[in-house]
Amino acid sequence: MRRLLLLVAAGILSATSGVRAAADGYEDARRGMLEAVRRLVADTRVETGRAALAPEVMRALEAVPRHEFVPSGLVARAYENRPLPIGHGQTISQPYIVALMTDLLEAGPDRVVLEVGTGSGYQAAVLAELGARVYSVEIIPPLAESAKRRLDRLGYRDVAVRLGDGYYGWPEHAPFDAIIVTAAAGHVPPPLVEQLAPGARMVIPVGPRFAVQHLLLIEKGHEEGEVFTRNILPVRFVPLTGDH
Ligand code: SAM
Repeated sequence: MRRLLLLVAAGILSATSGVRAAADGYEDARRGMLEAVRRLVADTRVETGRAALAPEVMRALEAVPRHEFVPSGLVARAYENRPLPIGHGQTISQPYIVALMTDLLEAGPDRVVLEVGTGSGYQAAVLAELGARVYSVEIIPPLAESAKRRLDRLGYRDVAVRLGDGYYGWPEHAPFDAIIVTAAAGHVPPPLVEQLAPGARMVIPVGPRFAVQHLLLIEKGHEEGEVFTRNILPVRFVPLTGDH
């Protein structure tokens, strides 16, 4: 107990609901992944306006055991800076994109965040490591189920996962301080804009299916109907599906 308290005081463990990937044999691999993310962030600084990401975002990335979120056959590649298949035609996003979108969201402690597209649960875990309360919606039943079980097993108590069409958000928990959409929409879903709190941010890829899309940063103003949009980067995401 005394040792745990000392570690918390030294900032090595967080007091949030996250699990902090401690000594699990993947520390070097995770550090290598962070280095790759840092390099790509620097290389894309002109487009994104960011030469580096917030230190707490990098720490959150370092805390999550990504190898727990990929299929068993891909564990050896879990810390490569690339997306990987997770079954059902879906992917766990590239660590760089997860880090950049998390940074853009500015989702710190006690912020209430909606994620559309739970997938493996990795992005939700990164947000939880920042101290956010995460509500995540997934449309594919087996993915929703396995993400729920995985996040539970790893101790991410501040993530709730629901099966459904995230186009419509999660109105019971709105308004949100931040919304992250991890599948490409043909347009910005009006229910999501509605569920943003005044001053809150949404990060969402928008564009055609299976082609290059635009990663948009949307900010809801404090005046009625005020919405500001910034185009951050060309990206490629799997499509947002559903009957909307
Ligand atoms: N955030 C995920 C992670 O950390 O592993 C990766 C997300 S993957 C790129 C996109 C996910 O969005 C898929 O799991 C897909 O099933 C889901 N999805 C697609 N359309 C959806 C919708 N309308 N509502 C909720 N989830 C959706």
